[in-house]
Amino acid sequence: MPTLTQTPGAIAMRKRRIKLQQLGLCTRCGKTPSIEDSTQCENCRSRKKIHKPKLKEKTIVRKCKSWRIVNHRFVDGLKRIGLTIPEFAVAINVTARQVERWAFEEVMPKIENRMKVKALLGEDYWK
Ligand SMILES: [Zn+2]
Repeated sequence: MPTLTQTPGAIAMRKRRIKLQQLGLCTRCGKTPSIEDSTQCENCRSRKKIHKPKLKEKTIVRKCKSWRIVNHRFVDGLKRIGLTIPEFAVAINVTARQVERWAFEEVMPKIENRMKVKALLGEDYWK
């Protein structure tokens, strides 16, 4: 089993880099000559510096305490307009988790969100 650096592709790349280095060309782009004390050209070196690894987006999955519907009227309202919880959350600019709290936990939305729900579903479900 070859290690990662011994795969045919990696070996070919290393050979290419050595060849370019001998020719005095940039080992990265192979076009412009490399600068002193470096195997790469100025352009590639500066690009290397600004390269930052992308931060992995964390997905936090939190389970509801219970998936038993607490606010039936609200859930029926959602069904009536044919939106799922995530879709509805996007529509009123809150997280899906927040909408889940309103549906499955005894959580009352903030007044501005209550008004947004009312504007979309036509009813205040926390009266
Ligand atoms: Zn280059």
